[in-house]
Amino acid sequence: MLPNKQDHTTVNIRTARDRRLDFNSGRAAATCQRTLSDLLVSLPLRLQTSLEVDRLLGFFLEEVKHLLPLTGLSYHHAGAGFALGLGLGLGQEGNNAEVSYSLTQQGDCIGELNLFSNVSLSEQVLDQLEHLISCLLFPLRNALLYRQAIQASLKDPLTGAGNRIALEQALLRETELSRRHEQALSIVMLDMDHFKTLNDTYGHQAGDAALKAVALLLREQLRNVDMVFRFGGEEFVLVLSNTGLDAAAVVAERIRAAVQTLCLLVGDKQVRLSASLGCATFRQTESHEELLKRADDALYQAKRDGRNLTRMASA
Ligand code: GH3
Ligand code: MG
Ligand code: MG
Repeated sequence: MLPNKQDHTTVNIRTARDRRLDFNSGRAAATCQRTLSDLLVSLPLRLQTSLEVDRLLGFFLEEVKHLLPLTGLSYHHAGAGFALGLGLGLGQEGNNAEVSYSLTQQGDCIGELNLFSNVSLSEQVLDQLEHLISCLLFPLRNALLYRQAIQASLKDPLTGAGNRIALEQALLRETELSRRHEQALSIVMLDMDHFKTLNDTYGHQAGDAALKAVALLLREQLRNVDMVFRFGGEEFVLVLSNTGLDAAAVVAERIRAAVQTLCLLVGDKQVRLSASLGCATFRQTESHEELLKRADDALYQAKRDGRNLTRMASA
């Protein structure tokens, strides 16, 4: 016999969570001033709801403000290259109190947290604050690990360039932006010349070292806004936003010349490298796959024409 639906207690996760956390607007207003014990229950629950560092810190500030006279915070983690400011900083609208914490979790540094207030913070307030900060440590550590995992999943481990997944995401985003703002967008595809011979002659490790050197050179040669991806074995794709075909050809030629000057030391041998490049500029009506295909065709034209050359797809 089928169970009677009414016998089942159903729990809507969101409603249950909102009730628990007191997000329900009527009650929230009534309980604006919470006690430390309230917050020690509600804060960890709320911090469980996200794995994003900026959202966690936003929740933390919002919740703690129910009890303590904070107006803003700043957070930075040098190792993760992450910095964030929320609310009012020091010197803004009478903010004259600042308290700083170096956060650590099981011996690992998980960032520097500065909290701001427009009144000086008493020992009692600081004591309460430190209790509440202790609720932030595990969620923050988890969010940093999650961020690290996401970033690693988009990187090629050998060269540190973006991988194919990252390229796909970047091309989708950049072609959409180019269409919306009618801005130029170009890509350059680069393929190392005779790379199989280099591997066969000097070994795979020498080949790997060459790929790393080329990836480093590409980052050095490009603007901060340009993006470098490893497309496949010895192929890279550069995504140049706000760049037309002529400017892309200049960039590609500069890179080609720079690769030629690279000198790979294998034992006592100096190994010279070269690359062929193909450029294409986005046509507003094409897909990003078609754009890649046209750059690839231009690259193969460069190979056919003799290598160590740049060729452009027609606009
Ligand atoms: P072409 O000038 O026509 O591009 O010739 P090529 O030898 O560069 O091209 P081919 O496609 O024949 O060979 C590419 C070589 O790149 C073969 C492969 O062993 C090497 N390769 C691909 N990925 C890696 C890698 O991660 N490390 C190393 N060392 N070699 C790689
Ligand atoms: Mg290739
Ligand atoms: Mg090649």
